[in-house]
Amino acid sequence: MPAPAVPATLDGVDLTALAAQLGTPLHAYSASAIRARIEGLQSALHGLDAGIRYAVKANSNLAVLQLMAAAGVGADIVSSGELRRCLHAGIPADRIVFSGVGKTEDEMTGALDAGIERFNVESHDELLTLQRIAQARGSVARAAVRINPDVDAQTHAKISTGKSENKFGVSIDEARRWFAGRARLSHVQLDGLHVHIGSQILSLQPYRLALARVADFWRELEQAGHPIRSIDVGGGLGVRYRAEEDQPIAAADYAAVIGEALAGYQGRLLLEPGRYLVAEAGILLTRVLRIKQGEERQFLVIDAAMNDLQRPSLYDAWHDIVPVVADPTRPMTRYDIVGPVCETGDTFARARELPECRAGDLLMIMATGAYGASMASTYNSRPLAAEAMLNQGRYAVIRRRQPFEEMIAGEQPARNWQTT
Ligand code: PLP
Repeated sequence: MPAPAVPATLDGVDLTALAAQLGTPLHAYSASAIRARIEGLQSALHGLDAGIRYAVKANSNLAVLQLMAAAGVGADIVSSGELRRCLHAGIPADRIVFSGVGKTEDEMTGALDAGIERFNVESHDELLTLQRIAQARGSVARAAVRINPDVDAQTHAKISTGKSENKFGVSIDEARRWFAGRARLSHVQLDGLHVHIGSQILSLQPYRLALARVADFWRELEQAGHPIRSIDVGGGLGVRYRAEEDQPIAAADYAAVIGEALAGYQGRLLLEPGRYLVAEAGILLTRVLRIKQGEERQFLVIDAAMNDLQRPSLYDAWHDIVPVVADPTRPMTRYDIVGPVCETGDTFARARELPECRAGDLLMIMATGAYGASMASTYNSRPLAAEAMLNQGRYAVIRRRQPFEEMIAGEQPARNWQTT
């Protein structure tokens, strides 16, 4: 007798029942899994004077940010929208760092007034702008220089940020000149270093290289009489998108590399993981709309699309895709798994082996908790999917499915023509 079909659960919640109640596509996150990741990293960092500043862009839902706040985790933000979300969710301003190459004057002013922990400054123009804004407001901005260490993170080119050809950070030579001119910065307290070399990093080697360069620079600065009170080592820790292949770095090994590279450093350490804390806690629940037999390929058309999860079309990213009800009697079948959007790029997987599917079957796209909902759009006028937080057998809707009226709110007929 074949083994019976087994319906999947996430954080104790039956996913078939959840999809029936909330509809699909649906982003679902396990609160227990997020907490476990936070606690795992916090305990790996035990003994170091270190704080986690969650990279909000990975998943900026307020309920996720509230989980971070409750665990004592701060935030790494890149816009005033993210700042407002964090404050709204209860993350204290003095645990918020602000990164990004394109901070506007308004954004800098807002962040300064809110009293954020630190600006991660990415260009000389930004440094001078920060000085001017802080001086005008009679306050002092705490700042770190984002170093571009020219290290290859050995990841996808579009999420690699630490090579000299990338737009992020400044060279050590340039940073050295900033510190040499520090006396002229009357309203910027430049006493931090920051580095972030990229995302989905699965090897410790790029971290070792980047941190070695940062450590050498920190020692040089200390000797030159520039005390460094904060070193922010960025994020980038990779996760398991491909269960059979990806080997993420263990938190303890990562912490050990940081500790070794920065041995003797007495100041505060900051870490900015995004994906690592939330990716594997999330799934995208989707239903099979139909099977379409093409001339050359068999297409599995699902109700999720590239607007709900961009990573496959944007980076050719792999996500495991598995049936919610595992039925061992179904033969393995090869499909191209595609969404309804009118782009060939709206493809989640090509030539993927799955147990044979039928219209109405539920599938889980795995490890979608990061850069899923936060990158979603309404392309093809598809409403933003609902999001649910799951916790030990219960669930809460943390974003309702977007009603049509909300999707078109703000749009209007071209009626009130004006001249400039
Ligand atoms: N820090 C900075 C400055 C970033 O730009 C990013 C991602 O783009 C992160 C942290 C988080 O990266 P990850 O989600 O890979 O940990």
